[in-house]
Amino acid sequence: MRLKKILALQCLAVLLLCVSFGRIFSQSGAGSPGPKRIAVRAGRLLDVKSGNVIANPVILIENGRITVVGPNLTIPAGSEVIDLGDAMLLPGLIDCHTHLLQNYDGALGGDDPNMILTVTQMSAAKRALLGASMGREDLEAGITAVRDLGNSGWNGDVALRDAIRSGWVVGPRIVASTRALAAAGGQFGSVSADTQEIIKQEYVVISGVEEARKAVRQAFYDGADLIKVIVNTGPRVLSIEEMKVIVEEAHRVNRKVAAHAIGNLATRVAAEAGVDSIEHGYTIPDDVLQMMVEKKIYLVPTDYPAEFYTSFSSPNLTPEQKQQAAAGAKSFADSNAQRLGRAVKAGVRIAAGSDEYYNIPGKTRGQASLLMFRAYAAAGMSTIEIIRAATVNAADLLAGDRALFGSVEAGKFADIIAVSGDPLKDITELEHVRFVMKGGTVIKNDLKLR
Ligand SMILES: [Zn+2]
Repeated sequence: MRLKKILALQCLAVLLLCVSFGRIFSQSGAGSPGPKRIAVRAGRLLDVKSGNVIANPVILIENGRITVVGPNLTIPAGSEVIDLGDAMLLPGLIDCHTHLLQNYDGALGGDDPNMILTVTQMSAAKRALLGASMGREDLEAGITAVRDLGNSGWNGDVALRDAIRSGWVVGPRIVASTRALAAAGGQFGSVSADTQEIIKQEYVVISGVEEARKAVRQAFYDGADLIKVIVNTGPRVLSIEEMKVIVEEAHRVNRKVAAHAIGNLATRVAAEAGVDSIEHGYTIPDDVLQMMVEKKIYLVPTDYPAEFYTSFSSPNLTPEQKQQAAAGAKSFADSNAQRLGRAVKAGVRIAAGSDEYYNIPGKTRGQASLLMFRAYAAAGMSTIEIIRAATVNAADLLAGDRALFGSVEAGKFADIIAVSGDPLKDITELEHVRFVMKGGTVIKNDLKLR
């Protein structure tokens, strides 16, 4: 009885071995299907580096990477052909400032109540699932890579990044920061002394250079790709010594530092410390702009048109309050446009970043985020400058020379979008992306030819 069982098991083992050998041979042997080859064909391709439009482009893709790009290329036999008619192809868009694990409700009355509710009612696991939903909305709008800058609970951003990489959920490529480093209180408003424990779910509070150094190392241990630092929140401002140590510790291991900085003092401290990007920077003095040019520090202008800010405000406002809010939004947007114009004129490099984390009625996260381009245009940036800010410049900020995205070139990931019109003539065309491919996988195609 026992012998029979052993014999049966041996037979089974031999059978399984045969099957697995069969698999190995069928992968490498003659007559195998080989690598997956795709050819994308369209009417136009925008070369974002030169600004030239190439007619009748063909992009050949193998195993998710671009192998050749050029006009009227011969498509190898056996390729899957995706014909997008006369559409214009561009590299996938990149958002350098996201908070995918947050979706605030404007009706609650601003950041403070939203942050407290998010932190006290949502686990990092639940937030990662929210992030999966927001990430998909970004990707479907044409954003194929993001830099997610904190407010993700305990390393929820790292979990989401890794889940997307593993193919568990569909989303953009993520460069993640883990919890932001900050002075006392992080970005929380008033929280009573006996509940301040919740702050560490969202921020690593540092005081002094050794705590700053320790926090950078902890972030890398937690899986961070870069460091996010909140230089100031109201009168709580990190010192130049703390900032320099943060930059030194990150740069020592070839990682970057993104600095949230509001106002003249904080932008100056960030620039002096040599961070890689200044986020927001709603006011920046001329000499700091100059320092940013010299040190090649990017400005990530998280700007929107005035209507954006009032589109999610509380429905309970009186007509008078509504008017006040609209006037406040207009003066904020005008002042931001003015400083972005000054920055561009000074020669500061710009990378696009939305900082979108509110639920905008009638829009997906991706659609709402792309409204930033309208503000960039209102500040006087040309359409090609805006497109570069959201592609090649953004890729440079995220990954430097190692960037495998941000342009449609041989060797890069096949992260490609297509639009029907011409975004060089009208930047809002990018609000209507019709085709999205990430790493050779079609995410969306509204251009299917019948
Ligand atoms: Zn932000």
